[in-house]
Amino acid sequence: MNKVMVINSGSSSIKYKLYRTDTWRSVAAGTLTRIGEPEGEIKCRWQGEDGEDRNRAQTLPIPNHRVGLDRIVAGLRENGVLADASELAAIGHRVVHGGEHFSQATVVDDAAVAVIRGLIPLAPLHNPAALDGIEVARELFPDLPQVAVFDNAFHQTMPPEAYRYAIPEYLYRDHRVRRYGFHGTSHYFVAKRAAVLLGRPLAECNLITLHLGNGASATAVRAGRSVDTSMGMTPLEGLVMGTRCGDIDPAIHFYLCRNAGLDTDALDALFNRQSGLLGICGVNDMREIHRLAGEGDANAELAIGIFCHRLRKYLGAYYAELGRVDAVVFTGGIGENDSEVRRRTCTGLEALGIHLDPGANAARGGGERAISTAASPVQVLVIPTNEELEIAQQAFAAVTGETN
Ligand code: ADP
Repeated sequence: MNKVMVINSGSSSIKYKLYRTDTWRSVAAGTLTRIGEPEGEIKCRWQGEDGEDRNRAQTLPIPNHRVGLDRIVAGLRENGVLADASELAAIGHRVVHGGEHFSQATVVDDAAVAVIRGLIPLAPLHNPAALDGIEVARELFPDLPQVAVFDNAFHQTMPPEAYRYAIPEYLYRDHRVRRYGFHGTSHYFVAKRAAVLLGRPLAECNLITLHLGNGASATAVRAGRSVDTSMGMTPLEGLVMGTRCGDIDPAIHFYLCRNAGLDTDALDALFNRQSGLLGICGVNDMREIHRLAGEGDANAELAIGIFCHRLRKYLGAYYAELGRVDAVVFTGGIGENDSEVRRRTCTGLEALGIHLDPGANAARGGGERAISTAASPVQVLVIPTNEELEIAQQAFAAVTGETN
């Protein structure tokens, strides 16, 4: 019982990662894609007995999630990484939406399954797939605790002023319309690491955490707890993202319905999958956008400009909410790697006590680091996120009561 598996189950895919609980090192990881199609794909990498990294890719039909999970465990056995499922202390499942019911990782029983199922209308794309993964795992390994780790749980500490919308109360009461926030596992992980870098308990830290990946969100953390976040009832609200528009005037919806002949599904696709960076300049990969901007593409330049402008607005808003900020934390693919976005976001904020060190910001190399000057009252930190590790540790803690 010295290992924990983390599963992120999508509608036609399963991603997994296996951790040892003594060192919290990942010993194997992989993805199964095109589940339900004639040809599925399995990719895995693991550490051989000699400590060398190995990997393997296979193409074979994976009719459903049950066969998929079975294949994962069989593959781990063949590769000598996991003798048997009894070596697992728990499986941690990423679940996008826990509504208002779950404020922490939860060992799944029939009642929890029913609650997660009841939340499907709030996360119609994500929760059914997560449930599939959980139910199959419960069937295959009935003696193994299955732990659900919810992407919105960290934000359950938001006060009503932050989570309620200015719309009639019955919509909240009868239809659960409120802000929930997402990326909570990542915001919490980097907040904990920031506290370590700042050298004080998380409960004494005020932070603004910026998770900038394909999806993007900002969170205001007061005394270690989320008090506001930019994503709302769904992940569409807030920052500019790869393909999502983030904040827009809600009246644009009615305007487009009445004048452009778009129906609900078309608007959903437009704002979730055809907007954001992609909508502005035709590309959603930030590296490519920088390349195009460097060649003089005005739309690519504008995309970076709108992205950073929105980010600065949230930074300013959360600064005002918190009153005192110990650190601004950048994470996610863009936050961790894009020194230009960090520079544009933080420049000119010296009056707020934010003094970026241009050299440290531009320096290559990964890892946790400060990119503010030594005298900067507000530290600016880059902290690589690790959502899988956080899920693994929360799952382990939920079954053993031990924290790491
Ligand atoms: P996801 O949200 O899908 O997990 P990631 O956190 O991996 O995504 O972030 C993906 C984004 O990070 C993409 O826009 C990608 O272009 C960007 N990115 C990754 N590496 C770099 C880099 N070196 N410079 C700028 N952007 C980067």
